[in-house]
Amino acid sequence: MIISNFIDGKFTPPIEERMMDNSNPADGKHIAMIPRASALDVDAAVLAAQRALPQWSALSMLERADWLDKIADALEDIKEEIAQTESLDTGKPISLARSVDATRSISNFRFFAKFARSQEPLIFEMSDATNYVHTSPLGIVGLITPWNLPLYLLTWKVAPALLMGNCIIAKPSELTPLTADLLAQTMQRIQLPAGVFNLVHGLGPEVGQAILEHPEIAGISFTGGTATGRIVARTAAPLFKRLSLELGGKNATIILDDANLDTVVAGSVRAAFTNSGQVCLCGSRILIHQSIYDEFCKRFVEQVDAMKVGDPSDESTQMGSVISIDHLKKIESYIDLAIEEGGEILSGGTRAMTGQVGSNPAGAFIRPTVIGGLNHLSRTSTEEIFGPVVTLHPFATDDEAIEMANCTEYGLAGSIWTEDAERGKELAKRVDSGIVWVNTWLHRDLRTPFGGMKNSGVGREGGRWSLSFFSEMTNVCVKH
Ligand code: NAD
Repeated sequence: MIISNFIDGKFTPPIEERMMDNSNPADGKHIAMIPRASALDVDAAVLAAQRALPQWSALSMLERADWLDKIADALEDIKEEIAQTESLDTGKPISLARSVDATRSISNFRFFAKFARSQEPLIFEMSDATNYVHTSPLGIVGLITPWNLPLYLLTWKVAPALLMGNCIIAKPSELTPLTADLLAQTMQRIQLPAGVFNLVHGLGPEVGQAILEHPEIAGISFTGGTATGRIVARTAAPLFKRLSLELGGKNATIILDDANLDTVVAGSVRAAFTNSGQVCLCGSRILIHQSIYDEFCKRFVEQVDAMKVGDPSDESTQMGSVISIDHLKKIESYIDLAIEEGGEILSGGTRAMTGQVGSNPAGAFIRPTVIGGLNHLSRTSTEEIFGPVVTLHPFATDDEAIEMANCTEYGLAGSIWTEDAERGKELAKRVDSGIVWVNTWLHRDLRTPFGGMKNSGVGREGGRWSLSFFSEMTNVCVKH
């Protein structure tokens, strides 16, 4: 398979003709050649976007909402292909690719279409004047996304950006370009006006950097690691571009003394190991009240030991591969570090070589790994690993749990488990994170604000926060 950029409504090879390899992390096999595009391709995409912008931005928001529904309908037709492709490109289980990636990618468009139709004009009356808030698009926006939820996170930005009348230059992760290509094919099939959605494939420091630096790109919505986020901020902020940064996390799962262990164990396993722990929201530090610590550890380890790791195409697989052998080595280096820091491996810790695909040494498989006995301030317990590794820590009081939850540089998400929902709700306000779930995890209402505190990001996405990010506002004050 050979993938092209999508610029001005057409699939076009990179101007400098450089290509690179894309492979399946579950078996190391080649899947596709993809463009290693350059700043020249970004320039061409920006020119196409500039030509498209006047007509696209002149449509009403409701007309653009109809386009979002058309995109959702067309994606619905290829839903199974999206799931299969995402599973192949990322090594995630097909069941997860169906229930999360494919489903949510479509619902992102549906949600913003419906949300647009519920918007009321913003009008503020004074005794002697009326204020009308007029919104217009930012213009051309750059959308840069990571590999863990490739189409899900890209469409989360594409839908509101289109809705508000912007034209897009998108750059998916070079590790997982395939479903973004399916999205471009979809845009072509439904005849979205040429130049409204452009896709440029390539490396972060080349294509990504060119997007950040381009003077005609007015806003950047970036999701990725905190270190890359610093580069994005350093480059784009002096150009006064609008910036949204969704970055890393090291989220705490807090289990209070009154928690119901029957539900908590399954919930915390899911929070820890969904997508091989490669969700920015994963609960990778589990803080457990000391009165139930031993019982929780025993039951948690039993469930983790029983998890089926293997062939992503097998319907019964619970955990597939991680994203690459390089990433696997990074995860292993953290397991070595944990042992150096005095940790005890309670489950996993080794490469998983089970099942047909896992038996291929080129597959990036590792068992879900549980580590006890570490200080909560150790590097293993505070740095983002972004893999299937969790550390367990006992605490004595609610205050101590909060202090431990807030002890990292991150502040993205967390969960609190208790039979007393009111106690959970009050405690949640003291966790320095953009999202805290009580007795659940990754339960999303797309109207709510999504984003991180501290080094987990700047700004919020979701509902009206996405709409305002992707638009300029003019307040028109008319004297009576
Ligand atoms: P990454 O930062 O390496 O890459 C993200 C994107 O940025 C990729 O498309 C990459 O090509 C591009 N990029 C790299 N260097 C660039 C540069 N100099 N200029 C412009 N673009 C550049 O992240 P990753 O490894 O793909 O993803 C994993 C990270 O993403 C984890 O830290 C995870 O926590 C984070 N993440 C955060 C959220 C969130 O919503 N907060 C969601 C998913 C993932």
